Amino acid sequence: MNGRVLLLPVGLKDGRPVLISEIPEAESGRNCGCVCPNCGGPLVAIQGPFQQPHFTHERVDCAYDARNATLVGLLEMAREILLLEKRIMLPGLEITDENEDEPPEEPGTMRGPVRRRRVAYPGIVSVTDAHFEREAGEPIPRLVVETGRGPVQVELLVRRQAAKSAQKASEYRGGGCAAIEIDLSRTTYPEILDRGSLRSLLVFNTVNKDWLHDDRRQEAERDLREAERSPSVDR
Ligand SMILES: [Zn+2]
Repeated sequence: MNGRVLLLPVGLKDGRPVLISEIPEAESGRNCGCVCPNCGGPLVAIQGPFQQPHFTHERVDCAYDARNATLVGLLEMAREILLLEKRIMLPGLEITDENEDEPPEEPGTMRGPVRRRRVAYPGIVSVTDAHFEREAGEPIPRLVVETGRGPVQVELLVRRQAAKSAQKASEYRGGGCAAIEIDLSRTTYPEILDRGSLRSLLVFNTVNKDWLHDDRRQEAERDLREAERSPSVDR
């Protein structure tokens, strides 16, 4: 979050997500009437010109889940925005014939030239529904969006973590449901507190989106491997 820790920007008011920037001054503090998106505990709206506006828990019992609360709150916001907007721009998909993150099979051997193949261009698809699914033991619910090309799970990256995407991608491989990650970790905090900016980041931007899982990737990678094994390929 650009060197600054993002403090909880979203609360739930009457079941709907609200940004801290949308709380009128008169309802600041304990009068905000919001609860935590993660634990349901009462929130206090902290505003004022000299600090990053944010929500904080009224009681300490949930203070340690602030990070999960931020993620769940932003997922709630994503769900509401996508349902209102009824569309989402999905990222393009490009594959290479080698996993550049992995070392060559035999130490000291050279890799061959990396071939790239574009499987899909970015494109807007319709959104007909968006709902949460949660399996037992999962700390964060999954946001599943029904789109013109089937269900797509939407993950948000709020804080940068090394190799997190790669790790997630491997987790998703057996999962089945297509999944994208929307990277909000480079978004500055005033921007993330603005519903219009969030709308562009979630709905229309493609630079910040990537596929975590897509059946087309496996198919295309298989085709590429088969083409490599074919004797017509000059090796
Ligand atoms: Zn909480």
